[in-house]
Amino acid sequence: MNIAAITLTQEKIALKTPFVTALREVRDVEFIRVKILCDDGSFAYGEAPATKAVTGETLESIRENILSVKGLFIGKEIAVSLETLHQTNIGSSAKAALDMALFFLLAKQKKKPLQEFFHIKDTRAIKTDITISLGSAEVMFEDAKRALREQNNILKVKLGSDIAHAIEVTQLLSRKLPHATLLIDANQAWNLKKSLYYLRETQNCAMELVEQPVSAADLESLKKISEASRVPILADEAVFTLQDVKDVVQNSCADMINIKLMKCGGLSKAVEILEYARKEKISCMLGSMLEGPYSINAAIYLAFAYRDVIQFIDLDSPLLYKELPHELDFVYETNEIRFK
Ligand SMILES: [Mg+2]
Repeated sequence: MNIAAITLTQEKIALKTPFVTALREVRDVEFIRVKILCDDGSFAYGEAPATKAVTGETLESIRENILSVKGLFIGKEIAVSLETLHQTNIGSSAKAALDMALFFLLAKQKKKPLQEFFHIKDTRAIKTDITISLGSAEVMFEDAKRALREQNNILKVKLGSDIAHAIEVTQLLSRKLPHATLLIDANQAWNLKKSLYYLRETQNCAMELVEQPVSAADLESLKKISEASRVPILADEAVFTLQDVKDVVQNSCADMINIKLMKCGGLSKAVEILEYARKEKISCMLGSMLEGPYSINAAIYLAFAYRDVIQFIDLDSPLLYKELPHELDFVYETNEIRFK
């Protein structure tokens, strides 16, 4: 089973409402879809959205990156191609798109259904959080109330650099919505001083974690914040690869890590990180960017396969789509994700 062709398309899925974080605002999920076709007629898809603010990649660079390496795989075997792919130095999202298509093809080559290929035994529903976009405190409170009414009670709350606003929103949600589980995400918007101030001023608030308070490169501050905080600190933008994860964990810079396919370079690399996390007993979030259905499928298989180490699941893209695409292998019932 050798690779015969690799083709690319650009896809777009409309969102119900715009998605806003400290770093960006978007109205559609846009992504590159790659199809890998083999000489026996079998094929699989991979996808990568542009998240310039996080990985530095645009749709154009993802396309160019994939086109620049695709010649290396034509006529080659799947496992060999996977190895070759991870020796290239293309962007992590471009790599993730190719990696997941190759990974899915490995399952086809072994003639295994994906559930079996991923060693998934426990198929009880898993729960995703839902994002509350950055906005005025009133709008965020209304959005959070609506999420709870719709039975989405795990809230990923996006906060920005205005620390007074961040404290106000946290106090408001924690006080008025006691049944919500709050996951606070600062997306690198604070510095050490602001972070410590935020933690002091929200001591009375019930929250599960604070995600990436300071810039990705500032591991020193991240460590100081983790030491000072009673709330677990989660590293997101600071950890792309397994080596990053080891650096953060071994130096006690954070309590938890956020794994995303687009940061680590795809399923095969995410599996390596999750195996490490399982061995070292590090609790994880399995996150995503705003992504298309095939890359969300890939992440959901992982979420089921590693439910013992994945404490929080941030795979709410399909909840934000205007309509659910048929390519999803799973159904979303409020915040629960089940096999179709
Ligand atoms: Mg994050």
